[in-house]
Order: sequence, then structure tokens, then C-alpha cells
Amino acid sequence: MASIVHIADGLDLALSVVVPCYNEDAGIDELYRRVSTACEQQGQTYEIVLINDGSSDATCARIFALADADHHVVGIDLARNYGHQIALSAGLELCRGARILILDADLQDPPELLGPMMAKMDEGYDVVYGLREERDGESWFKLATASLFYRLLGRLSSVGIPANTGDFRLMNRRTLNHLNAMPERYRFIRGMVSWIGLRQCAFPYRRHSRFAGKTHYPLRKMLILAIDAMTSFSVAPLRFASHFGLAFGLLGMATLVYTLVAWGLGQVLPGWTSLASIMLILGSVQLLVLGIFGEYLGRMYMEAKRRPLFIISEIVSRTRIETGHGHWQDTQKGPAHG
Ligand code: UDP
Ligand code: MG
Repeated sequence: MASIVHIADGLDLALSVVVPCYNEDAGIDELYRRVSTACEQQGQTYEIVLINDGSSDATCARIFALADADHHVVGIDLARNYGHQIALSAGLELCRGARILILDADLQDPPELLGPMMAKMDEGYDVVYGLREERDGESWFKLATASLFYRLLGRLSSVGIPANTGDFRLMNRRTLNHLNAMPERYRFIRGMVSWIGLRQCAFPYRRHSRFAGKTHYPLRKMLILAIDAMTSFSVAPLRFASHFGLAFGLLGMATLVYTLVAWGLGQVLPGWTSLASIMLILGSVQLLVLGIFGEYLGRMYMEAKRRPLFIISEIVSRTRIETGHGHWQDTQKGPAHG
């Protein structure tokens, strides 16, 4: 087995397909088969970068077996489960194609669209992003919450982040270089790509059900991604907090004046209910406002640590052992142990 430390710098390949994989062993071989076919049809040089995001099943072994057998495959094993967006970032950092396709391992987004997307990019676009026109096998709840989230995000953020998109997209090297240069750790990659701008184009397609296994985005992780997106792309919640705080502060002042006047006029009555209500309302507003502050403060704290985004445990590739130097250490994303 060939393990390497150094990654080649430079753009010596026409295409990279980057796929984060977490507990996907049932689908990896099919993924490899379909992606390889799609890439071969392009008739250009390519690589398939498979990132194992700390899976607990046989995903890693399968990826490494593929990388051993086929020099087009680069297998990257992360040191633990970092989550979808970070695993994807690792692949994007290490890939070296002039064009890059992001794909999920579950084949919900058909690799066969590579050809048409490449053709679209030839028209002069920097990013061709998949727009889900139809989505098979997803619950109404997921569709409804996703639509609500994108509408809210659209209103709160000044960056136009298109609704009904995922990370399935083709981008060119200049876009990827900008993306890789963003150091933030709360990564909402589809939003970051929108933020970059340049020439972007939607590519409508039909999203299928999973080929195998089940989703790794339960409600809890969807919520975390939504909060990451919201806090990364908007300070509107902070503004909301201060406006809310201001409004209730003024109301409190007015009530204070009223109370003092009433006291001066000798009209004080035993008023437990009103007193308790005021305390409860003010208390909860304060907690809400503090909570929103805390959410941003916590993120600033985590960013301030400047830890590497990910640590790589091992890379298996038959081509990269002979080539290259530099790129890997320069990026300081973490040490690689061969
Ligand atoms: N994934 C990952 N790390 C995780 C969770 C998911 O690398 O912690 C990968 C997963 O293997 C898949 C992609 O991210 O390739 C999208 O995940 P999934 O299909 O579960 O999400 P959904 O399509 O249901 O939103
Ligand atoms: Mg999926």
C-alpha cells in the first residue's frame, strides 16, 4: 500500500471529483463505478478524491482498496468524524483538478450529469450549481423546513444564496482557490461559494433517493447547519436582539414612570400578577438576547483558537507518491502521517 505525505502542487489534472463519505460502505463500489464511467467519458485526466470522515463501518477499507487498485482514486482518511462540511473542505483543499465536481457518496445527485455540467461551464461560467427541481424520497417535513430555512436566510443575508441547492456543483480552479482561502471553521460551503460571486449558473436536475444506507442529517444536524449558515452569513439576529432589548427597555422605563406616578398619587394596590408578569417577560427577553449574543461569542471564541480545520490520518494514492511537494505543508491544515 502506498501512503504518502506530500501532495502535488499545480493543476496537472483536468478534473477532480470530491466525495465526502461517512458510513457509506454499502454504496462506495457503485459510486466508484458510476463516477469512473462519467469521468472516462470526458476523455480527460481526472481523479476521484474519496474522503473517509471517521466512518465506523468498512468505508475506509473500501476506499483504500479502490485507491490501491486504480491510480485515479485518492483515498483520504481523516483522523475522526469532522462532519460533512469539514470533510468536504479537506477534499477541496487536497484535490488538484482544474475543474472540481462536488458529489455526495449516496448517489442522490447523479454523476452522469458531469458531462452536461462541463458543457455548461464551457459557455463561460465559473460555477455550475445543481438546482433540485424534484426530490425523490425526502419527507415533506425535510422539504418544508428546508424551504423555510432558505427563505429566512434569503431575507436575513445580503448574499443571494439560491434556495433548493446543495453542495452538488462544478466549479473551476479560480473559484476553488478563493474558497480554500477562507479560513472560517463554521463552514456553509454552498453559501461561501455564493459569497464569492463570479459567473454562476443554475443547473436544474432531479435529485434521487439514496442508493444505500440512510441520511446522516437528522433534524439535530440540520438545525446545526442552519444555525451555522445563519450566523456565518448574517448579523441580523444580533441586530434583532439589540432592537428587541431596546424596545423592552423603553417599555420598562415607561412602566417605571407609571409606577412612580401611581405611588405619588397613593394609588398603590397589591398587584402580584402584574409584577410577576413584568418580571417574567423582562427575564425571558434578557435570556433570549443573551443567548443570541452567546451564540456569536462562542463562534468567535472557536475561531480565535485558529486550530487546523482537520487532521489527516492517512492518504492512499498511487500517483501522488512520485510527485510534488510544498502544497501540503504550506496550507497548515494539519500534519499528515503516512
Ligand atoms: N457525510 C460526511 N460526514 C458526516 C455526515 C455526512 O462526510 O458527518 C457525507 C455523507 O457520506 C454524504 C454527504 O456527506 O456523502 C451528505 O450526507 P447525507 O447524504 O447523509 O445528507 P442528506 O443528503 O440526507 O442531506
Ligand atoms: Mg444524501
